[in-house]
Amino acid sequence: MLKKAALGLFFAVILATLWQRLREFSPRDLASAPRPMSAVQAAAAAPPGPSPSPKPQTLASPSDFGEADAAAVRPIFAAFATGDFVGALNLADLAKDQVSQRPNVLAWLTQQMPVLLTSAGWARLKVGDCDQARVYFERSHALKATQEANKGLALCHYKQKNMRVARDHFLAYLAAEPGDSEMQLLYTDVLESESRFPEAVGILRQLVQAAAPAEQPALQQRLESMEGRAQESTLEQVEASQHFRLTYRAIEQADLTPQVLSTLEDAVVEFNEQFGLPPPLLPIEVVLYPRQAFGSVTNGPSWAEGLFDGRLRIPVSSSRLDVLASAELQTVLRHELVHALLALMSDSRSLPPWFDEGLAQRLSCNQRACAVFDFGPQPGGFLPESSFMSSYLSLSAVNAGPAYHQSLFLILTIEAKHGAASLRQILSHLAAGSSIDSDALLAPVNGRFADLYASAKGFWQARSLPAASL
Ligand SMILES: [Zn+2]
Repeated sequence: MLKKAALGLFFAVILATLWQRLREFSPRDLASAPRPMSAVQAAAAAPPGPSPSPKPQTLASPSDFGEADAAAVRPIFAAFATGDFVGALNLADLAKDQVSQRPNVLAWLTQQMPVLLTSAGWARLKVGDCDQARVYFERSHALKATQEANKGLALCHYKQKNMRVARDHFLAYLAAEPGDSEMQLLYTDVLESESRFPEAVGILRQLVQAAAPAEQPALQQRLESMEGRAQESTLEQVEASQHFRLTYRAIEQADLTPQVLSTLEDAVVEFNEQFGLPPPLLPIEVVLYPRQAFGSVTNGPSWAEGLFDGRLRIPVSSSRLDVLASAELQTVLRHELVHALLALMSDSRSLPPWFDEGLAQRLSCNQRACAVFDFGPQPGGFLPESSFMSSYLSLSAVNAGPAYHQSLFLILTIEAKHGAASLRQILSHLAAGSSIDSDALLAPVNGRFADLYASAKGFWQARSLPAASL
């Protein structure tokens, strides 16, 4: 929900920025050695503190090669030089089987393998394909434990929420590169998953001290949140279900946990059956906080309804224990779960807010609640098209509420125009490697955002939505 959007902000933005920059990187000079690592280092420049200098990876020039030997490796060089790292690796794998009679070439190939593998790994990581990237990094790591492989494995396991394995690679990497503040910051998130709050707080204190003045407020905010969570954690307990790991106040909230877990598990099944959203492969972390503590652990206003910043963080007031309030809690849980599942599908990239917030509202309400759109007492006009494209945080408070409300209207308009299966169709194309601009998201139903917007605006002005698919 919009209110919550302001909260998980800092860390969510850091993550989105990191993944986005990894994707945007491409070798600048095709003739020179490709530099997969420089993408990561560029990303590391976003958060505060010094970042280690890039470590370009190059293939060693072979010596003592005759013409036949040189010819055997030329295609590998050519592919590598143009940034086709996976192609270069595939050629090298093929060549290994074919050059058994050429000891020079075989020795060179063996020596180059870690660079070829890590370069291919970074290439896949940048397009969100951590499954394949991990295969390359692990092969590389087995040959030689390089920093490039450790960093790639740390990031991929982190992205895939396999925190225990991620931790080992973070530790190995940071032992040699303690100045990589971006990785240190991500590591504090790993520590939080393991309830190792004092360590996380210690690292954040160091990061605040070392940060440039412009970066200090955001880091200071994260430090204070972590201190709040550290304090809260002394009262907490953990319970797990198939797809969730729930942290809650041991005494006050114990009665609530079966309901929370069953709401979330039921929603996973429902979203999968109705909209094709895949269940999470690893447990999603959910943390319940007492309403009065929520502000101090998120650095947001105490009236926020919930947030997703990699974890579902949900404030629970004592009134939520009654029947009416529990319906409200269910909606909040389902809403945040949609954000979590979309993040898993889209490689934690920033989706257009109309899509992310609209879908979260559409899926979190039950069918009847969404069947009649509530225009409210003063619906006002439909916002300009541009209002839906960038973070609602950049809008004034006056426009942010309507943008949020009208995002749901846009989603309902999709269903009205394109039929009951349209959201499922759209979601089936959402993937780590898919385009996520508004037109690309609508392409599976042959839609364009300008047309959707025009239709929605017309319906809005008429204060009616055609009988939709609901
Ligand atoms: Zn939301």
